[in-house]
Amino acid sequence: MGGLIAAVSIENLSFSYNENVVLHQLNAEIEPFCLTVILGKNGCGKSTLLKLIAGLLPYRQGEISFSGSKLKKLNLSARAKKIGFLGQKHKAVFPFTVGQVVLTGRSGYVRIVPKKQDILIAGHALEKVNISHLKNRYYTELSGGEQQLVMIARLLAQEPEILLLDEPTTHLDFCNQINLLSLLKTLTKNRLTVVAVLHDPNMAFLYGDDFIFMKNGKLLKPEHPAKPWDEEFLQSVFDHELHSIPYSERALIVPKKIER
Ligand code: ADP
Repeated sequence: MGGLIAAVSIENLSFSYNENVVLHQLNAEIEPFCLTVILGKNGCGKSTLLKLIAGLLPYRQGEISFSGSKLKKLNLSARAKKIGFLGQKHKAVFPFTVGQVVLTGRSGYVRIVPKKQDILIAGHALEKVNISHLKNRYYTELSGGEQQLVMIARLLAQEPEILLLDEPTTHLDFCNQINLLSLLKTLTKNRLTVVAVLHDPNMAFLYGDDFIFMKNGKLLKPEHPAKPWDEEFLQSVFDHELHSIPYSERALIVPKKIER
């Protein structure tokens, strides 16, 4: 991506909840129009980092910049248009149809009554996620996986420059995980930057362009950055005995010991 300014740059970022320091002087650059995956064990700080990038947690130490502009200097409306964030928990409280929920993604743009343009954009977002058939269903009556897809469509209706997704595949069945990751890849090709926390290193290596590894609130850098699926490196990230089996120019990761 030589020559392109980083979509997000993180410099010496530290963060603590009260006295508890959970991120220690992180430095990272997120490439534009790539799918960057954040990997690491539970509790290592992935969600905290994503929320900081989304501007949802106030940071005191270090800096986060979007295409060179400091996050702190962006007002709320600029952030809402730039950044689409999907957290781990979204409550199923909307007493709305899917079409209406997706239209609320336009709230950064819509004053009182949505314009024709907003309704069109919301419709396109449903098409992109392949859920137009759910448009008139009630959000609260959908499965967890379908609700997740509605939330992604809602984010797309927002037309952000960057999507920040915390475990977006959690409620999805295997094929829908594949569909969602393929969709995210397509979005990057259409000039959207996507950062996703994923639990599954296999999904990460099948679809990711770039990877951020975290452990105990710090970033771990692989010895060979172009081949982060190195067995020893991944064992140190996950503290688990793992095999890295070459597959499709990358690797599949499986446990070394399988109890049956
Ligand atoms: P991950 O997403 O990698 O599982 P988190 O970013 O959620 O990790 O958490 C990192 C650390 O911060 C954990 O030790 C967690 O207990 C702590 N933590 C997360 N959220 C809060 C919070 N709201 N208040 C206090 N501590 C928190």
